[in-house]
Amino acid sequence: MINDRIRDVPDYPKPGVMFKDITPLLADHTAFAAVVDAIVAYYGRGTIDKVAGIEARGFILAAPVAYHFGAGFVPIRKQGKLPSATYAENYDLEYGSETIEVHKDAFAPGEQVLIVDDVLATGGTAQATAALIARTGAEIAGISVLMELGFLSGRDRLSDLDVHALVTV
Ligand code: IMP
Repeated sequence: MINDRIRDVPDYPKPGVMFKDITPLLADHTAFAAVVDAIVAYYGRGTIDKVAGIEARGFILAAPVAYHFGAGFVPIRKQGKLPSATYAENYDLEYGSETIEVHKDAFAPGEQVLIVDDVLATGGTAQATAALIARTGAEIAGISVLMELGFLSGRDRLSDLDVHALVTV
């Protein structure tokens, strides 16, 4: 059901890229709820203090997961979007390069943080997010994604972390 609701869009955002579009899944309340429930079931209520969502589609999944856990939500944002003092990490993306930031005071030392995003591709975004969180002194409980593009081997860059994908293609 989940895979059926993820649409392949060829040549987006540039020629040769097959983009996985999750908007049909988000618009289907049964599929959306199934995704949130599956992430919550994997990690278990009570073990996560904060859920970090990666801009922008990660926010959509991370917020309801945080609600179910009774945990806080923390945005990982593109450069220049967060208003207070931040840590920043630069990394190479599947198409281009990017800088992401987190508020320095977003986590207390030792807090258990679950990272949530829609798609794991090369792993650069997740790796940079993990580096940001490590700088705050918090602990990374795991990385949960809706879809993993296995052929890009992003998981290999995250070998010290628990990476959970609902669908792997
Ligand atoms: P990575 O850093 O190469 O792993 O790319 C992952 C980031 O790029 C995530 O934040 C995704 O939202 C985005 N991304 C990469 N490929 C896709 C895709 O096919 N569909 C949706 N998002 C993607």
